[in-house]
Amino acid sequence: MTGNLAEIKNLNIVYQTKKNAFGGVQNVYAVNGLDLEIKKGEILAIAGESGCGKSTLAKALMKLIDVKSGKILIDGKDILAIKSREEIKDFYKKVQMIFQNPYSSLNPKMKIGQILSEPLEINTNLTKEQIKKAVLETIKKVGLDETSLNNYPHEFSGGQRQRIAIARALILNPEFIIADEPVSALDVSIQAQIINLLKQLKQDFNLTFLFISHDLSVIKYLSDRIAVMYLGEIVEIGNTEEIFSNPKHPYSMALLSAVPELGGDKNREKSALKGELPSPENLPSGCKFHTRCPYIKDICKKSEPSKIDFSQTHSCKCFLYES
Ligand code: SF4
Repeated sequence: MTGNLAEIKNLNIVYQTKKNAFGGVQNVYAVNGLDLEIKKGEILAIAGESGCGKSTLAKALMKLIDVKSGKILIDGKDILAIKSREEIKDFYKKVQMIFQNPYSSLNPKMKIGQILSEPLEINTNLTKEQIKKAVLETIKKVGLDETSLNNYPHEFSGGQRQRIAIARALILNPEFIIADEPVSALDVSIQAQIINLLKQLKQDFNLTFLFISHDLSVIKYLSDRIAVMYLGEIVEIGNTEEIFSNPKHPYSMALLSAVPELGGDKNREKSALKGELPSPENLPSGCKFHTRCPYIKDICKKSEPSKIDFSQTHSCKCFLYES
């Protein structure tokens, strides 16, 4: 791995929802001052509960939603500033996404051959023959055969549909793939096949992944590094081994203590996560985890903790480690 493919700097995403039936709007603070770097060739996993802002971050990286402020640099270029048709085409050649539900992400009226050809027709100058060859090669990469190209999405199983969605993400030869809960809608028996496929494709094509999941066993198996997200910010980041063997943030500890096959350090306090995730409409003051933290100190309600480094790769934001 050399250098960063993506750098996210002080990203803030606020959207508005209706307050009540009589009008008025409420701000929802989905992503709050988020900083994150994604290295070329790595699988960086984002872990956190549902509603912590993981999917909002993914959509922002795909330019699918507006952001309030901050920067998202891909290969040094601020993607929030790109506007022209050509620049946007170039962007989607480089960055692609795999969604949670493969059925709703594939057009049910198109045959698989058309679904895979369309991005090449729109974004490249390839000839019909070249497109046909690329489609054939790509469907084979994901473990399906040529006959699949004449069928419609509903004719496939959930696992096969996710393979097709992965093929569509690969068809433009991207460098960076954002996978948002790509196996959580699949049967457990199929999940391992898709995870192994992603791992193989990453190696074969030197891809970089942002992998979003609430399933820590999947994250442990697949990722090189983990960023733990809570109410729109990264509270801890480190190599997968560092996070699993020595989590520092009380939120990470609580999340990991719920993973049954963890084993490892018997002395680690088992602090199951208590209470509900606070609403992103009314963010807690100070450390956002203070309403659920078993180690809360006076300062935690008043001030936001700064980042503390434990190694070159491992850091967290928590007053427990400030001297
Ligand atoms: Fe808990 Fe305070 Fe650390 Fe937040 S800063 S996680 S409330 S100890």
